[in-house]
Amino acid sequence: MKKIYCDNAATSYPKAPLVGEAMLSYINSIGCNVNRGSYSTEYQPENIVYETRELLCKLFNFDKPENTVFTQNVTTSLNTVLKGLLKPGDNVIVSSMEHNAVMRPLARLQDNHVTVTTVNCNLLGEIELNDIEKAMTDNTKAVVVTHVSNVCGTILPVREIGALCKKHNKIFIVDAAQSAGILDIDMEKDNIDILCFTGHKGLLGPQGIGGFLIKDSIVSQIKPFIEGETGSDSELEVQSNYMPDKFESGTLNIPGIFGLNESLKYVTNLGIKNIYEEEMSLTKKFLEEVKNIDESLIVGKKDLINRSPIVSLNFKNIDNGLICYNLEREYGILTRSGLQSAPIAHKTLDTFSNGTLRFSFGFFNTIDEIDHIINSLYMIYIKQGL
Ligand code: PMP
Repeated sequence: MKKIYCDNAATSYPKAPLVGEAMLSYINSIGCNVNRGSYSTEYQPENIVYETRELLCKLFNFDKPENTVFTQNVTTSLNTVLKGLLKPGDNVIVSSMEHNAVMRPLARLQDNHVTVTTVNCNLLGEIELNDIEKAMTDNTKAVVVTHVSNVCGTILPVREIGALCKKHNKIFIVDAAQSAGILDIDMEKDNIDILCFTGHKGLLGPQGIGGFLIKDSIVSQIKPFIEGETGSDSELEVQSNYMPDKFESGTLNIPGIFGLNESLKYVTNLGIKNIYEEEMSLTKKFLEEVKNIDESLIVGKKDLINRSPIVSLNFKNIDNGLICYNLEREYGILTRSGLQSAPIAHKTLDTFSNGTLRFSFGFFNTIDEIDHIINSLYMIYIKQGL
């Protein structure tokens, strides 16, 4: 049976063409480290690493390649930034749509007398700007939001939140796990101070590579999380403060960067607007057809405004995990059920007890696949006597 992959919010599949090839060619034909040896073969990976920083800057409209830090993924980026920034007595504001990648480091920081204010979103996953502004106090150091809910696909208004942060002089941190490569992100216009991304979702790159882009004015406020060899300033006892070395101790995931380099070129050449339009045309059809089956299955927003290609369904009286299992076993459709590592978002959307069945479409899904999914959902719906 042909498999239809609809779990691109977990990780995209397939990856952009040439990603695997670039990684393999580095491993098989180049192999050396960056910023460590003094031989000419080092220049090639060094150039690719630097070019990848530039590609990220171009994609997110940022002008400092040296302030583009590589990590393993967005989780590592968020941990680095939050644990390096927040001190006892600080307050941080989050939305109630956050992923555990934000909530768990913040839960740990509460042991260290950091306070967390959660601004509640509505049943559509939408946030009120007024509520964010009201939550700000003198102790509020930062506002952290996910750009897109990984549960129901609602887009949070980062440009407006960024403007609020600027007005009140708060640091604005964005979790772009579900938006990088799918939505336009402009660090300048959106007033984002720190943008955390992961390479393996919408950017169509490999797993194990991510990072963050950080404005100059914030760099000195964050202590590095990991310290050690950077290949620079080796005579010093302590980590040097210049970027990106301050946050890049230890050998980088160079194969991952080679893969990300190719995927960034692919995404940039296609154009973010075209990718979004393509994915939303699939989502439009899916939503319309699901509405014909039973509109009440759709969790959160039922329209296309301010949403991404993530759609959660809730079969209410049936275990969504069972539907997920049957969808694969009987129809070859791969989805993700449960709480998708965002329990607080499920509490907001009133789906905590049963989780949801999440479809997340990607650039390589097709309209024919949507037809097959809809037919399969019909069959399941009928079989379950709904
Ligand atoms: N934030 C959000 C909103 C996510 O959807 C995810 C992935 N599910 C993450 C963070 C974590 O991503 P990674 O595993 O690449 O660190």
